[in-house]
Amino acid sequence: MSPAVVWFRRDLRMTDNPALAAAASADDGVVAVFCFEPGLATGRHGCPNRNAYLLASLRELDENLKAAGSRLHHRHGDPAKEIPRLAAEIGAAKVHVNRDHTVHARRRDRAVASALADDGRELVGHSGLTCAEPAQILTGEGGPFRVFTPFYKAWLNAPRRDLAPKPRKLRPPEGTSKLEAGRPASESDMGIDAAPKRIAEADGPGERRGRERMRTAVDGCSDYKRMRDLPGPDRTTRLSPSLHFGTISARELETLIAAKRSEGAKTLRRQVCWRDFYLNVIRNFPGNRTEEYDERFRGMRWNDDPDSLAAWKEGRTGVPWIDAGMRQLLAEGWMHNRVRMAVASYLTKNLLIDWREGEAHFMHHLLDGDESQNNGNWQWSASTGVDPQPYFRIFNPIRQQKRFDPDGEYVRRWVPEVRELPDEHLATPWEAPEEVQKEANCVVGDDYPEPLVDLFESRDEALARYGDQRGSD
Ligand SMILES: Cc1cc2nc3c(=O)[nH]c(=O)nc-3n(C[C@H](O)[C@H](O)[C@H](O)COP(=O)(O)OP(=O)(O)OC[C@H]3O[C@@H](n4cnc5c(N)ncnc54)[C@H](O)[C@@H]3O)c2cc1C
Repeated sequence: MSPAVVWFRRDLRMTDNPALAAAASADDGVVAVFCFEPGLATGRHGCPNRNAYLLASLRELDENLKAAGSRLHHRHGDPAKEIPRLAAEIGAAKVHVNRDHTVHARRRDRAVASALADDGRELVGHSGLTCAEPAQILTGEGGPFRVFTPFYKAWLNAPRRDLAPKPRKLRPPEGTSKLEAGRPASESDMGIDAAPKRIAEADGPGERRGRERMRTAVDGCSDYKRMRDLPGPDRTTRLSPSLHFGTISARELETLIAAKRSEGAKTLRRQVCWRDFYLNVIRNFPGNRTEEYDERFRGMRWNDDPDSLAAWKEGRTGVPWIDAGMRQLLAEGWMHNRVRMAVASYLTKNLLIDWREGEAHFMHHLLDGDESQNNGNWQWSASTGVDPQPYFRIFNPIRQQKRFDPDGEYVRRWVPEVRELPDEHLATPWEAPEEVQKEANCVVGDDYPEPLVDLFESRDEALARYGDQRGSD
């Protein structure tokens, strides 16, 4: 008989939380903890928007734990020291966590497990992050999948755990009423000022708002297939930040979607599988974190062009579709998937700038910024990753805008300079006759930037450079 610790990381919820449910069933009570690791504020992927989302979600988790009779304890520093120390203080034999598959998390958890074991205690991992457990999805030869479609087929048939019961009552262990609760990190330590707070708050941190959004998304998912590529109406689920912080459970989301029969539901479930896929990829190919999965593209010559990179980041490329996306990212800490693909293609295949620059910029701003998802998608966009699309597939932002934002709803929302241009010139302001530009208060080079590069010449250069690189192995 001994009490248990539940160590929350990115599973900030009471509902369907296997680690919490297991700890709650410990005979001698449970202590809940979150540990602020130094890398959160200062690491290579530190992000004030996500930190603001995290603090708000932790506040709500603490309230929910209190309502069940417990509370959230806060610790600061290296989890390999802090977690074993807490377990020792309360005499817990087990520390329950939901397994994470990203590179840092696996390294950290190995260190914590080993420190606990040195003291005769155990780190117990549960399956609370994905829909299906990555270790159970293997090719016929028993290896990892590298291509999405076969992974998806195997994923559909992979075993699923039951949903975990939500604990009604959490009992603190005897004699721990004086246990130091600790305080959350301060906003200033986490780099948070007014803007990130506003951005996080507008999105909806915490379990209550995550669950509301999940219900709305599932109720409306019959339309998902038809609407998901249109950033103007903005009708994707916007569940990615809630999924990243685990304020909702991917497994529960999948269960709710699977109960619907529509084509939209099927498409949405497949999309949710991409998240499991990229968690699977980083788990099996941790080297992707820093280098191209496809070794033929390692050492590729990228342009060193800080001015163009800054223009891309700030939404001043002179291409409305690209600028709209980049400005949405800065304003909302989120960008529509259709536009993410276009801006990533533009950076890597028109500006020929290293995908790692884009990856880092996204991580610095995205509320859903997640190493596995971001790295996987950036490598997909740069054609260097698993699931090789033809390396010569390059998104044309003009065609993309005409196809997915035909009435200019999205571009006009984010690029006010082009708002008054007639629809037929909205994707290519630089081609509008001078009098049309004047009439629309959008004189290119004056009111709105000239395009940074010629889209067709830069595309040809990218094809040549990618081709040379591929041929040189
Ligand atoms: C360059 C680039 C970088 C990206 N970086 C991230 C990231 O850091 N974090 C992140 O969560 N997503 C990332 N994505 C994937 C995708 O853009 C977002 O998951 C999606 O836009 C989130 O919006 P939503 O919740 O409304 O998605 P919906 O369309 O409603 O989809 C539902 C859920 O399915 C999953 N999903 C959908 N598309 C993808 C995808 N392409 N890859 C993986 N999972 C997907 C997400 O969990 C999403 O919340 C990136 C995509 C690109 C092209």
